[in-house]
This record gives sequence, structure tokens and C-alpha cells, in this order.
Amino acid sequence: MDLGIKGKRALVCAASKGLGFGCAEALAEAGVDLVINARGADALEAAAADLRARFGVQVTAAAADITTDEGRAKVLAAADHPDILVTNAGGPPPGSWQDWEREDFIRALDANMLTPIALMKALLPAMMDRGWGRVVNITSQSVKAPIAVLGLSNSARAGLTGYVAGTSRQVAPHGVVINNMLPGIHATDRASSLDGGVAKAEGITVDAARARREATIPVRRYGTAAEFGATCAFLCSQHAGFIVGQNILLDGGATNATL
Ligand code: NAP
Repeated sequence: MDLGIKGKRALVCAASKGLGFGCAEALAEAGVDLVINARGADALEAAAADLRARFGVQVTAAAADITTDEGRAKVLAAADHPDILVTNAGGPPPGSWQDWEREDFIRALDANMLTPIALMKALLPAMMDRGWGRVVNITSQSVKAPIAVLGLSNSARAGLTGYVAGTSRQVAPHGVVINNMLPGIHATDRASSLDGGVAKAEGITVDAARARREATIPVRRYGTAAEFGATCAFLCSQHAGFIVGQNILLDGGATNATL
């Protein structure tokens, strides 16, 4: 299928590896020129070189912490009002509801709610002026069904989801669609680190922790960044103009719910 977005320009945040890189890769394959972001400059430049070499698109690497005002200013300047925005950042650490203090919530809200909101606020007006735009926010399965140890994520991402539900209906008349993607467990470094935490807490191997988690997923495996990226590229395509304010769950069937 031709996604119809060849020659468009996209900003993909937190994209040197994992789900963000999967999204950047699928957009590059669709012929989209990219600005990609992450904090670590070396890995980011390597990712950019890889995408340029394989897909022949323009890829600019903007190394910065996207959760800070200065970082966002640098990335927004490099991106220069793109047609497509994919928001992403590292997820909050696991823990317990009894331990989280105000500062922990402020950090989580900054990274996983207020950063994507600031990016949308900065970029939506130019998309509306042009009459076309696509925004995909990478959130989490925890929006549909809370994950006990990820209460900071449950909370911050729920706030973003409410913002998108309202805002997406206000920008849609201008040809701009905003949707959220909700990853269940995917085989990335973030998943390895969560499995490592379980292994340590329970005195089992990381492989055993992963096998136990895989057994709870109807497809019996973790998702891949490539399949996640393909869905992202579709949501950024010409074909997605009637999909507005939705929360697309990619979890291998793990969330046991009818809707
Ligand atoms: P990952 O493999 O650890 O990759 C994270 C990427 O984000 C890296 O490129 C990292 O590069 C970049 N990054 C992290 N913090 C950043 C910041 N402050 N500013 C700019 N770039 C930043 O993680 P992932 O698995 O792709 O997860 C992506 C998001 O999806 C996270 O929010 C995670 O919580 C969420 N999620 C993941 C899963 C899963 O199973 N993988 C499930 C549900 C939700 P640098 O470290 O160099 O900055």
C-alpha cells in the first residue's frame, strides 16, 4: 500500500532505538524526511546514518533531552514545523504507590504528559494553517488497564489521553488528526530492564521472567518495534484521516477486554 506521505517531513522523538526508532524506520521507508531525537548523540547519529543509507531520505539528528524546555527548543528549531509529529520519551521507573512523592509525579508528568502537550502546542498551529497534519503519541497499555508497579505511568499517560481526547476534535476540522498508540510489552531495552527488575525481586533469571510474561500474552511473544512502527506509519498516512482521537492498543491480546 502506498501511504501517500512521500516527501512529507516528520519529527520523531526518543528515536535512537526501541519503539521510537521503529516509527522512524517505517516513516523513512514511506519516503518521509526525518528529524530524530534522543539524548545520546552517538547512538542517535548512528541511527540517522542507518536510515539515510537504507531509505535515501533526509535524516537530521537532534540530540537533546526532550523533557526539558531547552531540549525541546533545540529539537523544534531543527524540525522547523514538520507535517508529522511522533511524541515519545523514556517511561517512568517502576515502584509502589506508598513511596511516590510529589517530585516523582512532577517528573513523570513532565516527561509523559506535559512534554507531548508542549510539542503539540508548538506544532499544531502550522499543521492547521497548511490543512494537513498527523500526530501520534506513544503512550502505554497502562492507559487501558493499570499496571501496579507503573503507577507514575498510569497517572501521567491518563492525563495526556484526556488532553488528546479533547484537542483532537478541535484540530480535526483543519485536516490534522491526533491519535495515541498504546504499546503492550515489546522487545526493547525498556522491556529487558522491566524483566531484569522482576528477576532481581523474585530471584529468578531474566529469561524465566520473560518466559513467564510471554505466557500471559495470547500471541505468546513480545511485540516488535518493526510492527509497532508499521502501525505508526499507517496512522501518519493519507489513509488515516478519519481516525481521530483514538487509543490503538498493540498488546498481543494481553488486555482482556471487549472494547
Ligand atoms: P527504549 O528501548 O529504552 O528506547 C527509549 C528511547 O528513548 C531511546 O532512543 C532513548 O535514547 C530515548 N529517550 C529516553 N529518554 C529520553 C529523553 N528524555 N529525551 C529524548 N530521548 C529520550 O524504550 P521503548 O521500549 O522504545 O519505550 C518507549 C516508550 O514506550 C517509553 O515511554 C516506554 O515507557 C513506553 N512503553 C514501552 C513498552 C515496551 O514494552 N517496550 C510498553 C509500554 C510502554 P537516550 O537514552 O539516548 O535518550
